[in-house]
Amino acid sequence: MTLLRQPAGLLSASDAGRKVLLRGWVGRRRDLGELIFLTVRDRSGVVQVLFDRARSGEEPVVRAGDARPEDVVEIEGDVVLRGRDQINRDIPTGEIEVVATRLEFLARAETPPFLPEDRTNATEELRLEHRYIDLRRPVMLKNFVLRDEIAFGVRRTLHELGFLEVETPMLTKSTPEGARDYLVPSRVHPGRFYALPQSPQLFKQILMVAGFERYFQIARCFRDEDLRADRQPEFTQIDLEMSFATEEDVFGVVEAVLAAAFGAAGIDAPRPFPRLTYAESMERYGTDRPDLRYGLPLSDLSASASGTGFVPFDRALASGGAVRGLRVPGGAALSRKKLDEWTEVARSFGASGLVWAKRSGGESSSPAKKAMGDAALERLLAAGEIADGDLLLAVADRPAAVAAALAALRVAAAKEIGAVDASKHAFCWVTEFPLFGLDQKTGSWFPMNHPFTSPREEDLSRLETEPGTILARAYDVVLNGEELGSGSIRIHRADVQERVFRALGISEAEGRERFGFLLDALRYGAPPHGGIALGLDRICMIAAGASSLRDVIAFPKTTSGTCLMTGSPSAVQPAQLEELAIATVRPPESSRPPES
Ligand code: ASP
Repeated sequence: MTLLRQPAGLLSASDAGRKVLLRGWVGRRRDLGELIFLTVRDRSGVVQVLFDRARSGEEPVVRAGDARPEDVVEIEGDVVLRGRDQINRDIPTGEIEVVATRLEFLARAETPPFLPEDRTNATEELRLEHRYIDLRRPVMLKNFVLRDEIAFGVRRTLHELGFLEVETPMLTKSTPEGARDYLVPSRVHPGRFYALPQSPQLFKQILMVAGFERYFQIARCFRDEDLRADRQPEFTQIDLEMSFATEEDVFGVVEAVLAAAFGAAGIDAPRPFPRLTYAESMERYGTDRPDLRYGLPLSDLSASASGTGFVPFDRALASGGAVRGLRVPGGAALSRKKLDEWTEVARSFGASGLVWAKRSGGESSSPAKKAMGDAALERLLAAGEIADGDLLLAVADRPAAVAAALAALRVAAAKEIGAVDASKHAFCWVTEFPLFGLDQKTGSWFPMNHPFTSPREEDLSRLETEPGTILARAYDVVLNGEELGSGSIRIHRADVQERVFRALGISEAEGRERFGFLLDALRYGAPPHGGIALGLDRICMIAAGASSLRDVIAFPKTTSGTCLMTGSPSAVQPAQLEELAIATVRPPESSRPPES
């Protein structure tokens, strides 16, 4: 009788007495002379295999004595119950072990640079360089099993809701999402380039013009930007688009998708998600991605700060700025060191500084007390709703700097006072973003989202005259202070699209050259439509409780955009450049070693 291969990690007491065939990797070896123990690991888990002369025979014992970590082995043996006092509660198969009767090496392994165990001292560089070993670590494998469940749940949900999964090109034309394009030279058309998509945005809109009504794609996107720890140059979006849809329709679908995605990790996503407008979010939390696991709203102190004679307040208010504050409950007890640290946080977000004030044991204190006097300080504390034991953090500056600094302080304060319940998951929608932002340096308008986002109908008449006041039919979905996705109802009329291009300083000729195909499509019967893209990598990271996107992407890049395993990006053969009609490549300024 030929034995069927058995997943090692699924063996249990009920298998006792069975003959099994295992194939997997050798983990640890314990050699007690007469007795040799190997752990054998496959995708399902680990099991302990025992070799002893009496039951295994001479040859298997000799071979087992030669086994090394990460050898690939085939083992036949009998499942036996362990004695009561030998049960290993640390592994699911700990009630049994396999007494081997045969051992073959399917492949031998050199000493690995690190052992693929959950707890590792290996540096991230080493892990990325030998990613095949890193991915053997059970914690990593678990992330990819979850990622598969999430993607499957998303696909099933969208399929059931009538969405068609359609692939869009990788070799394409620029789709502006605010980053640089990755360019691919064309061999057949020397001097011409494809761009890798920053998103499938224009194709999905064109699929709506084509009458597909509901599209989705688990889509690869490419953005060449300066990477931060939580960014990757290529990443995956759950991209979707719907015809004849309003914001409500999109929200309903997205909430179902996210419930399925997080449900795969046992995380509840109570629906409907709360909503707040961009203006409300900025006012209450200083950010468009508020963490709603806790309260800690900001307060406006401008009225009580005015006329206090405290120079930073006066200066900010006189130049059109604001004074706003954050009440930190129980924060009066925080150390000077913490307050100094937070002053640096405020500065790093562009504010000129931080003013604190507190009430403790009936006393009010603040470094600004002398300058503003007792009465003014009391007024300020009252405006900040400071009770005894509380701390007030006040920032005076340009409104944008005040918001950014206080938003960061709110997050820091929540952590400090233990207001973050890590088991909670707070989803929300942020709606009605401004259509345009103003580039302070160039004085020109840029799209807050992308240039295909529809203005609100009631704002259209002010598009040319007061572009800064136009609100967009745009929305973000946010979880625990992280943006999970961003979308909008789109412009579906060519004339409106042309007006928006013009407002953005895109000339008619440039508009035609870059987006002529879209403008053409909009002229041939485009249904009203809208959609969103959700960041699959980030969803997986949060669902898995991982701390880095790199732990949920099989082959990620470092923060400098290199792949340490393959060594890309790499130089190419002169002949390849020749074929692409690329005459010269400037040598790199330095040959910096890659960093992670
Ligand atoms: N294309 C947008 C993005 O990638 C999402 C959308 O508007 O649907 O951010």
